[in-house]
Amino acid sequence: MDIVILLGAPGSGKGTVAGALAAKNGNLKHVSSGDLLRGAVAKGTEAGKQAKDFMEAGKLVPDALIATMIKDVVAETTGDVTMLLDGFPRNLAQARILDEMGAPVRSAVLIDVPDGIIQDRIAGRRTCPKCKAGYHVRNLPPKVEGICDACGEKLVIRKDDNPETVKDRLVVYHQQTEPLIAYYKEKGLLRSVDGTTGVDNVAAAFLAAM
Ligand code: AMP
Repeated sequence: MDIVILLGAPGSGKGTVAGALAAKNGNLKHVSSGDLLRGAVAKGTEAGKQAKDFMEAGKLVPDALIATMIKDVVAETTGDVTMLLDGFPRNLAQARILDEMGAPVRSAVLIDVPDGIIQDRIAGRRTCPKCKAGYHVRNLPPKVEGICDACGEKLVIRKDDNPETVKDRLVVYHQQTEPLIAYYKEKGLLRSVDGTTGVDNVAAAFLAAM
């Protein structure tokens, strides 16, 4: 088992790219910290109850809360598998927690997208609450409007995808997550791909870079 970290702003396409790659490669496993947390909130677990308000405000949940969930997934992932870790780490403290776990990080790949494009991408984002597939009303529309291609569920707009919260999430990204670029660069693990070339091209570039 080893780990490839996806770095990039909210809306940069981390989940879409990791999902597309994992669907085609049996030995790639997509792990999204946001999906783990949304699952806990939906189930009403203790962790979910603690996370809910932070998430709705576009703030990071406490490090220990998400780190425990990631530790469990890392521990249960064995064999010839590369984990595409999407959304964790989100700040330097979490990166150090991952290092202290002894997690074998192969590389950290930045999906680079300018802020101006991010706002538009998130405004058009639609998500399947059941299978987690992601869509965009213009860039990546489902075959039937409002319905998930993969499982037929009605698509939703994430609560934290409203313009006000998106602004806050971008501030959090620049302040807390962006320093990870220098952190992994220093370790010689940073790769970067242009995130504006379309899903298939970004996925191919990502695979080559990782
Ligand atoms: P995402 O789906 O990755 O955009 O995450 C949605 C929300 O979940 C974020 O805005 C945070 O509130 C929370 N979250 C996800 N991953 C983390 C993390 N590694 N650390 C703290 N909060 C997180």
